[in-house]
Amino acid sequence: MSIKIENLTHVYMPKTPFEKKALDDVNLVIEDGEFLALIGHTGSGKSTLIQHLNGLLEPTSGRILVDDIDLTNKETKLTDIRKKIGLVFQYPEYQLFEETIEKDIAFGPNNLGLSQEEVSDRVKKSMEMVGLDYETYKDVSPFDLSGGQKRRVAIAGVIAMEPKVLILDEPTAGLDPKGRDDILEQIKILHQKYKMTIVLVSHSMEDVGKLAERIVVMNKGKVALMGKPAEIFKEVEILEDIGLAVPQVTYLMRALKEKGFNVSDEVFTVEQGSKEILRMLLKK
Ligand code: ADP
Repeated sequence: MSIKIENLTHVYMPKTPFEKKALDDVNLVIEDGEFLALIGHTGSGKSTLIQHLNGLLEPTSGRILVDDIDLTNKETKLTDIRKKIGLVFQYPEYQLFEETIEKDIAFGPNNLGLSQEEVSDRVKKSMEMVGLDYETYKDVSPFDLSGGQKRRVAIAGVIAMEPKVLILDEPTAGLDPKGRDDILEQIKILHQKYKMTIVLVSHSMEDVGKLAERIVVMNKGKVALMGKPAEIFKEVEILEDIGLAVPQVTYLMRALKEKGFNVSDEVFTVEQGSKEILRMLLKK
């Protein structure tokens, strides 16, 4: 399933004193099975963009094509699209409300009119996919969980709808380092093992450098840069101009290289950095 975004512009509250152009002629294709990260400052248009992908917002101009089906066409059934494209909002745990985890995750599938057996299968499978043991957690109240676990339940609720594409808006926001690592690891598994197309909204260069196959940098409603992490992180000046930075370890490797050490500056994670430094030391 591919998503094509063509000349997408979105203006909030047009023709009022509060008019705001949040997206300005954005063009982007999200390929089937890829792991794409959207990065940019607060207010750069990331949330506005992703809400167009399953028809929650309508473009002011431009089109969104999901497998060549035009979402702006009035005939298009958005409910069908929303089954295929799951959107996990920021702080999704605020939307948990049932008394047990099982009931909460079952809420969406129940609304699809599936048999009880099918609903139950989907709940079990989606709990497994986010790393929550079914027997241990099914009868537990979601409100008795840690922040990171609550978020997993909320993500499982979206996965239980069996979307092909999973869009996550800042899924690590507000979590402690362990919670962050766990959620990111789980998202990686959804992509690698369960072959889901992932769109990850983030403002952490470290996180997207570790995970994404392609990065789209947003600035003031426009796509400022687009490419593989190695291509994006080379553009230090452009990134700094728009107030973003490359991962700290990349700065370290660049500084080492400038001082004459024989290391690569195409390093974006601490693991890669330590390997590269060890390689250099062992060669000496
Ligand atoms: P990001 O997700 O990158 O933080 P947003 O898409 O939320 O960016 O916001 C882009 C711009 O649109 C910002 O200037 C923001 O203030 C404005 N905006 C977002 N949502 C609304 C809204 N519902 N009404 C009016 N302006 C909005």
